[in-house]
Amino acid sequence: MRRDDRNGQDGQAVQGSVWQYSPAPEAREIVKIQPRYGLFINGEFVEPRSGRYFETINPANEEVLAEVAYADAEDVDRAVRAARHAYEQVWSKLPGKERAKYLFRIARILQERSREFAVLESLDGGKPIRESRDVDIPLAAAHFFYHAGWADKLAYAFPGRTPRPLGVAGQIIPWNFPLLMAAWKIAPALACGNTVVLKPAETTPLTALLLCEVFQQADLPPGVVNIVTGDGQTGAWLVQHPDLDKVAFTGSTEVGRLIQKAVAGTRKRLTLELGGKAANVIFEDAAIDQAIEGIINGIYFNQGHVCCAGSRLLVQESIADLVISKLRRRIQRLRVGDPLDKNTDVGAINSRRQLQKIERLVAIGVQEGAELYQSDCVLPSKGYWYRPTVLTKVSTAHTVAREEIFGPVLSVLTFRTPDEAVQIANNTRYGLSAGVWTNKGSKYLEFAARVKAGVVWCNTYNKFDPASPFGGYKESGFGREGGVHGLAAYVAF
Ligand code: NAP
Ligand code: MG
Repeated sequence: MRRDDRNGQDGQAVQGSVWQYSPAPEAREIVKIQPRYGLFINGEFVEPRSGRYFETINPANEEVLAEVAYADAEDVDRAVRAARHAYEQVWSKLPGKERAKYLFRIARILQERSREFAVLESLDGGKPIRESRDVDIPLAAAHFFYHAGWADKLAYAFPGRTPRPLGVAGQIIPWNFPLLMAAWKIAPALACGNTVVLKPAETTPLTALLLCEVFQQADLPPGVVNIVTGDGQTGAWLVQHPDLDKVAFTGSTEVGRLIQKAVAGTRKRLTLELGGKAANVIFEDAAIDQAIEGIINGIYFNQGHVCCAGSRLLVQESIADLVISKLRRRIQRLRVGDPLDKNTDVGAINSRRQLQKIERLVAIGVQEGAELYQSDCVLPSKGYWYRPTVLTKVSTAHTVAREEIFGPVLSVLTFRTPDEAVQIANNTRYGLSAGVWTNKGSKYLEFAARVKAGVVWCNTYNKFDPASPFGGYKESGFGREGGVHGLAAYVAF
């Protein structure tokens, strides 16, 4: 271990500020990656009728990890038929307490194999092992446990009513929380008696495919969950399939709009979990150092690839200089690098396309007058990387205050009064989440009541619980996932 001199506050050299740790990589041998994966249809891996395969890579070094089957319209149809058959013949006829047993089993196996899943998630998507190990995988297991508990108690979730399953659900998920989003979609659907065809994102299909092994291990009846890998077109074929009863989508507002058009006028029920541009608001009476950690956690961990990331920092004018100088120091100390290293704070950007999007938006920010500050950390030579970045002097009209960047980039705006904070926080087409930092209970309660966001965190950020509903206002979508509200999206009365 040795100490390193790095630039710190306002470009001043800070002596001995960063400890250089020796590499501490998690062993990747724990997970066995197949050279090639088929589609998971009717309980087994099958060759795609399309005859096509695509590569999934490790964004930290551009290494090809595996070839994955590409599902075309015929493959999607095969998967939907399998799901329909399983729904009619098996799953809808099982009593809730029997469905619960499968969900409990899946949850327990996920826990037992958690290290394997964590390593695979970090390899395929670029997120630090600390995140996949401590956040993604435990939360995915928790989601199956939580919904296992509801499967035989749906009558209590909806007192005085008789909830029935909807049928076959087509589910589409993004690349930022691949396994967790699969769990968010699959667990409530199954608990309520539906069957599923799920399409993972093109760049991160591997943990969903490993989950199929868990379904086999748990003896889940064939066809109850089917996984079709592919690209956006595969997703479009799924959404357009006439024999779906429900479509659940998490992803961009742009694609959400296309999906809404595609299902309009059909019997398909729809929930959309879309983008966000959350305000993280820090008042002058906040515990500043604690808030700085929360702000850092809210935007830099997981490379800002979080729909509810605190991407707009709203700081009260009286403390703006102090907060900005502390932030600049703090990002200088973030460890950017190998996602499998246990000391890594910020991993790789998920894809070249996403990296280009971040670069383009930050360049626009600078053109429009924002002041750029970036960590001068050494970036690996291969793979997709972006420096932790702070943009100051941002105003509400700036593109970087309006568009979702989905990278480790924080845009800083200032406000004078609580009213102004609420007004700026709500000045967005999104409404997924928000954060507030203050030591006055009355202040955060008022803020939470007035801000139009599905989740509001007070003196913390990015905390998730399967019992707590998650979802947005405005262009962040509609419907909720998690809690009783999430169950309601998978039942009819
Ligand atoms: P995206 O482009 O909308 O993709 C999401 C999923 O939709 C992927 O599986 C994608 O496939 C598929 N897809 C693409 N075009 C499609 C089409 N025409 N029809 C059907 N499916 C299609 O989103 P992304 O850029 O990958 O993900 C980041 C976005 O997700 C951000 O906007 C973020 O805020 C949002 N997000 C929201 C939440 C939430 O809960 N609100 C959670 C996580 C992420 P391919 O990847 O194979 O192209
Ligand atoms: Mg990948």
